[in-house]
Amino acid sequence: MSNIETGLESVNNRLAEALEKAGRKPDAARLVAVSKTFPAEDVKIAYEAGQRAFGENKVQELDAKAPVLPQDIEWHLIGHLQHNKVRHAVTHAAWIHSIDSLALLQRVLSISKELNVSPNLLLEVNVSGEESKFGMAPDDVARTLEACPTPLCVGLMTIAPLDASESSLHAVFGGLRKLRDKTAESLGIPLPELSMGMSADFPVAVAEGATLIRVGTAIFGHRQYNI
Ligand SMILES: *Cc1c(COP(=O)(O)O)cnc(C)c1O
Repeated sequence: MSNIETGLESVNNRLAEALEKAGRKPDAARLVAVSKTFPAEDVKIAYEAGQRAFGENKVQELDAKAPVLPQDIEWHLIGHLQHNKVRHAVTHAAWIHSIDSLALLQRVLSISKELNVSPNLLLEVNVSGEESKFGMAPDDVARTLEACPTPLCVGLMTIAPLDASESSLHAVFGGLRKLRDKTAESLGIPLPELSMGMSADFPVAVAEGATLIRVGTAIFGHRQYNI
């Protein structure tokens, strides 16, 4: 087996274990394999091992890879989305995890309508309040969702701070879940999806209710950005 196949199998096993430990159903959370910076050939290896959902954080990379890879791949855009790239993003991505403002949401909705596509949208929330992060403040979530016709907005996404302790990871991921529960109840809408957890912290996210985990390094290896 290649390193990618081994990595994928190990992440899938750890995901299954974390779900079982949390008393959740085996299909309650899905893996999004984050292939950013890795070539299409690497995506193909994971695809042939059965993986179908892949995540990219740049529209340019998604644009380059999607056309040369199997059409039944489900692409997830997980990185910051600039307004001038929305058209390309919704052309390829079935999921956008990084809606971080009302203005971006409105642009995504209007271009999706024009192109007659229905991407699944997640609002990115800065739960921990870190300065450097993208994501909207928790207080802005309900107001933003009011502008989103169901069923397009399906949930919330967050990124935990790097090197967070286990207890602060529980606080961040549990905080996103509570925000989701509260918002779903107050607006009377279903918000089934919670995108949270990466290579270093996904078991904690699964314990706290993640439905989509975004894992790159543990599958594809370390990224090199000097290309
Ligand atoms: C790169 C990235 C990931 C994957 O991170 P790993 O630590 O490599 O698993 C997850 N989410 C987002 C938003 C990313 O940009």
